[in-house]
Amino acid sequence: MQETPSLNVVIVGGSIAGLMHGIMLSRLGHHVHILEQSTENFRHGQAAGIRAGPEAQKFLSEFDLHKHYPYAVDCPGMQFINKKSDYERFVKFPMKQTSWTMLYYRLRANFDGLVSKHCPAPLELASEAGNAKYDLGKRVLGLTEDGSQVQVQYRDVATEEIKTVQADLVIGADGSYSAIRRIFRPPSEREDRPYAGYLALRGGILESEISQATRDVLKNNFTVFKMPKNYILVYAIPGHDGSLEPGNRILNFVWYHNCPDDFEFQEVMTDISGQTHRSTLQPGMLRPEVWEQQVKFAQASFAAPFVELVEKTSQPFVAAVSDNICDRATFMNGKVILVGDALALFRPHVALSANQAAYDCLELQKVLKGEISMKQWERNVLGYAAKTRQLSVVVGTLSQYGGWKLVQSVLVYALLLLRQGILSLVRWLTRS
Ligand SMILES: Cc1cc2nc3c(=O)[nH]c(=O)nc-3n(C[C@H](O)[C@H](O)[C@H](O)COP(=O)(O)OP(=O)(O)OC[C@H]3O[C@@H](n4cnc5c(N)ncnc54)[C@H](O)[C@@H]3O)c2cc1C
Repeated sequence: MQETPSLNVVIVGGSIAGLMHGIMLSRLGHHVHILEQSTENFRHGQAAGIRAGPEAQKFLSEFDLHKHYPYAVDCPGMQFINKKSDYERFVKFPMKQTSWTMLYYRLRANFDGLVSKHCPAPLELASEAGNAKYDLGKRVLGLTEDGSQVQVQYRDVATEEIKTVQADLVIGADGSYSAIRRIFRPPSEREDRPYAGYLALRGGILESEISQATRDVLKNNFTVFKMPKNYILVYAIPGHDGSLEPGNRILNFVWYHNCPDDFEFQEVMTDISGQTHRSTLQPGMLRPEVWEQQVKFAQASFAAPFVELVEKTSQPFVAAVSDNICDRATFMNGKVILVGDALALFRPHVALSANQAAYDCLELQKVLKGEISMKQWERNVLGYAAKTRQLSVVVGTLSQYGGWKLVQSVLVYALLLLRQGILSLVRWLTRS
């Protein structure tokens, strides 16, 4: 099996998926140019943790030069509590819980040596690595096929100038509203991110600001309280400066709340300036009177630890839950690929988005090492995306609806697994 010669790779989007791919490619000696529309190196998470699933852990153990510094809170499993805060069930399920910021700065340290509070002394990158350029304030607008290459058009956000760069491979890692995906699959308003009918309200409170009584109930576990049409969960993630010390960590909660696509949705998603949003409200944008109603609901219905978490949150982050998937992962004869959220968006229940980014990346490494073809890569990443997305729909439907909707989602999931199993078997039987 032969490795490919050095490629010039343009990655659109420099978040988790873009950086993972950038690190892997430059370590293989390819030249990587990340075009990121944000103008700031120092960015914030969305007040929500990120689980480092098995593939993300595998990625970090292979590529992280700073492995000796822990990046996540080790959480032993899930515990379910009732309204009186009594334990109902414990499921042993070890998880590594981190934050977007922790992961982003760790990846930046590994990609281009960015110094941050989270990674103050990045190790020197190997001299045999390819170029690694992280280019801020560059919004990609279009792609043109040019023989064996692709021309990438982007706007310099500061000067408004339109520029072009040539690439052998373009990686669309530009998130769930991917501009790259839209070039090939222009969406209708509804199709882009169809609303699942419920909201995720998120908040994060410094552990030291939470009472000892609540901390005693939560311990170090992923704790869940469930009631009809609502469930809320909490777990600890690294603190604002990346600290993993108890007390300095953040207790991160996500509250799933049914909110049909009508008057109530408009009420919640209309921000303090009167503008209505379709998918997210950043912290500080939710109208105080709306949050007051939510707090009252929590006080009347939730177990005490969750009441405290909600009461101590003044500026939640609100997201309308949705999911989607693109039918293809490669375009322009494999010169353009989609990865991470640009390829498929999962509902947050399964917490596998960073895992998908790592999976796509580790599979691409196999292509570049000549172990699998690009066609096989596409099959693998689409297969992973389809089954994980549907699993996220099943979990969301179980928690928010139940009944016939749940039966339907489980049937779709079972058929999908069956179809994937049959196709794998046929390929295995007909392999030459
Ligand atoms: C600032 C930020 C904070 C986040 N915080 C959290 C969190 O706390 N918890 C959580 O679960 N998830 C969070 N996410 C989402 C999370 O990163 C993803 O769900 C997942 O990790 C997969 O990441 P991704 O790289 O595929 O997509 P994303 O993380 O969405 O990254 C897409 C990147 O592409 C850039 N981009 C988009 N369009 C263009 C364009 N046309 N040209 C150039 N660049 C473009 C965006 O600015 C962004 O940096 C956050 C994302 C961002 C960008």
